[in-house]
Amino acid sequence: MAYIEPAPIKDKENPLESMMERFNIAAEKLGLSDEVYNVLKNPAKQVIVSLPITMDSGKIQVFEGIRVIHSNILGPAKGGIRFAPDVHLDEVRALAAWMTWKCAVVDIPYGGGKGGVRCNPREMSAGEIERLMRAYTLSMIDVFGPDKDIPAPDMGTGPREMAWLMDEYSKAHGTTVNAVVTGKPLVLGGSLGRTEATGRGVMVSALAAMEKLKINPFQATCAVQGFGNVGSWASTLLEERGLKIVAVSDISGAYHNSNGINIQDAIAYRDSNNGTLEGFTGAEKLSDPMELLELDVDVLVPAAVEDVITIKNVEKVKAKLIVEGANGPTSARADNIINDKGIMAVPDILANAGGVTVSYFEWVQNRLGYKWTAERVNRRSDRIMKEAFNNVYKASIKYDVPMRIAAYIVAIDKVAKTYTYRGGY
Ligand code: NAD
Repeated sequence: MAYIEPAPIKDKENPLESMMERFNIAAEKLGLSDEVYNVLKNPAKQVIVSLPITMDSGKIQVFEGIRVIHSNILGPAKGGIRFAPDVHLDEVRALAAWMTWKCAVVDIPYGGGKGGVRCNPREMSAGEIERLMRAYTLSMIDVFGPDKDIPAPDMGTGPREMAWLMDEYSKAHGTTVNAVVTGKPLVLGGSLGRTEATGRGVMVSALAAMEKLKINPFQATCAVQGFGNVGSWASTLLEERGLKIVAVSDISGAYHNSNGINIQDAIAYRDSNNGTLEGFTGAEKLSDPMELLELDVDVLVPAAVEDVITIKNVEKVKAKLIVEGANGPTSARADNIINDKGIMAVPDILANAGGVTVSYFEWVQNRLGYKWTAERVNRRSDRIMKEAFNNVYKASIKYDVPMRIAAYIVAIDKVAKTYTYRGGY
């Protein structure tokens, strides 16, 4: 289960406000009309439900469940369900919009959505979580649907919860509907290649960017923050492509070895050590884990939490290329300095979109009633990621803007044009 402690927002910029700032810059560059701007800014649908659950103690506790569909202009909404103590409507609204831009930038036929339940899954039993997931699903029975809104895991939820969602939705419809949700276990119609998909997309984007920057992967060094799903897969695949991974980090600290860290050893150590790198001897532990972001490397991959490259440390970042595995790792105020320093930043909505791309493939396979090989999944997602990178790169040249703004331009332009063709009332 992917669960990350909510990052402290104190003294930091709000990553979701950061996102809106970039949206506004891109909208202005595109010359978006006020009418279309307002359509794209406001969520299409917001549902809030009350979920009374009998806890193991026998007491009834009421949880708040939220689902926001930001846009269904390009197709059914797509986006994860977050189980976390700080779930809030404003945040879910912004995350739903983020999904709209992410799907549009990789050109998959989805709108954006997001859901959440305010709860602390770490303090709940499996039975309590199951009852909550099933109650949430039933409350959203008219919202979800393979042609309407297709949820997926997010913080605090994983394949187990998606299996319960699929089962509850299927029971209510009297037939198995596996295309209603992605991120399912393989036996329930999950896709091969989904686990590594986000890290793989990070690798594809990094290599595409290195080609533009004329950085030879076999002579390049790289630091990766976060050693969970995205970070460890990105490290593995970048190492396979010739990069020397000189630093990795997780919640236990940052580990540095200028001769290169053996990533398979680090993964084996993590897996045998309760999921953390604490005590890893293949590298030296840095006294301050944030130093990882300031190392003199060619490529920096923030793949842990949001808001880590900010006005406070951006001046010290030495990488030539930043590839954002995490969502929102760079604050909007840090953007200008990154650009002034001539660093290329491949933004989250592009760099980590390999995950939603393979989720889309999961839905396609479920609807076909067919299973693709891992090779086919990887080949098609690599092609989509490479094309998306090239489209954004072209837009960055055409509009003379950094890659981040270019990604928003590509996404907003696509949704705005589709909206204009479809028309309103
Ligand atoms: P995960 O829970 O598997 O791993 C998170 C990792 O970050 C862990 O190694 C954890 O120890 C580490 N970490 C937490 N706080 C840290 C800190 N302050 N400093 C350094 N390391 C820290 O999560 P994940 O699925 O790998 O997701 C990572 C990021 O990527 C998140 O921002 C997530 O939203 C984003 N993302 C994930 C996917 C996906 O498919 N998993 C897709 C798109 C975006």
